[in-house]
Amino acid sequence: MNVQQQDKAYIANTYARFPLELVSGKGALLYDNEGKEYIDLGSGIAVNTFGAADEVWAQAVSAQAGKLQHISNLYYTEPCVELAQMLCQKAGMKKVFFGNSGAEANECAIKAARLYAAKNKGEEYFTIITLENSFHGRTLTTLAATGQEVFHKDFTPLTPGFVHVPANNCEALKEAVATYKCAAIMVEPVQGEGGVMPLTKEFVQVARDLCDKENMTLIFDEVQTGNGRTGSLYAYMQMGVTPDIVSTAKGLAGGLPLGATLLGEKVQDIFTPGSHGSTFGGNPVCCAGSISVLSRLTDDFLAQVKEKSAYIFNTLEGAKGVKTVSGMGLMIGIETVRDASRIVADCMEQGVLVLKAKHKVRLLPPLSITKEQLEKAIGVLKDALAKEDA
Ligand SMILES: *Cc1c(COP(=O)(O)O)cnc(C)c1O
Repeated sequence: MNVQQQDKAYIANTYARFPLELVSGKGALLYDNEGKEYIDLGSGIAVNTFGAADEVWAQAVSAQAGKLQHISNLYYTEPCVELAQMLCQKAGMKKVFFGNSGAEANECAIKAARLYAAKNKGEEYFTIITLENSFHGRTLTTLAATGQEVFHKDFTPLTPGFVHVPANNCEALKEAVATYKCAAIMVEPVQGEGGVMPLTKEFVQVARDLCDKENMTLIFDEVQTGNGRTGSLYAYMQMGVTPDIVSTAKGLAGGLPLGATLLGEKVQDIFTPGSHGSTFGGNPVCCAGSISVLSRLTDDFLAQVKEKSAYIFNTLEGAKGVKTVSGMGLMIGIETVRDASRIVADCMEQGVLVLKAKHKVRLLPPLSITKEQLEKAIGVLKDALAKEDA
């Protein structure tokens, strides 16, 4: 059996994979099992912040793996606390809980918000308002938070206590806060899986004001937007508000599974020993990888992320076959004239990997992609966008 047949035989049937087996890479370049080279505009879904097998990152990770790979949260380890301090100082947050994925980072955010509401407002204040078209994860609670019916079907009953309002609709948000006994508002600053749609500054400001007024918690799900992806360390830093809780994962450890829930002043002391936990969370190898990533997200580096972003917007806005370009930093959605799946397939054929979000083409290149690699890849994409199907 080849790898594709083995996969079909032994892996649970949850993924519609592309017919492509990748074996190695270097930065923004990936190689398949036949040695064909691809420019990667997907980063393993916004995970490989510095691309594949980045040398500085690999060195940090393997050094830690050679020392101590895991110890559980029964004991202290330096990489874990060093990373927590770094995150708090860089993000202006107070405490960190480490898990292993985006869904877990959101579970912790939801538990923190409910705990805060139960202690400060009353146990009946458990409702969390999230947005239509949002994506918060695949566990039954984060599915309930996810405002897309397609993911709910056949898995009900989900965790109760979530209502969804349309993104950027301030009146609907105010009405929901007035209608339900609410613990929190939870949003992605740029909706990723929902089609790369940024929230407006006005909307996030209204959310912030409502949370202040009603003593609710404002949660930003920065699982995808975090860790430099949008051109600032976290997207909220460009939106004029500070959330009470920030969840993040994907790019946080540059390719290793690590999630973090950052707790601001309001909720910093909400947890007590036993109220939450994780066996793997804060694993020293993942944390060593993350320290390496975060320490390189300097102002200079983030300015380059913004420049690369501007280059993509400038090149694709108004180009043939492009309806709209949306997003922030190196998280970009393109509404296309052609069917997005055909564009993805044509690009792959031409050695460029792009993703989809809903009906859009989505770009999430490694933040470290070189200008030359980016120009070459966007050139290929531009041709695919402009192609006329028979
Ligand atoms: C990917 C994603 C998640 C889920 O992350 P997992 O690591 O797959 O659990 C949650 N929220 C957002 C915004 C995401 O993009």
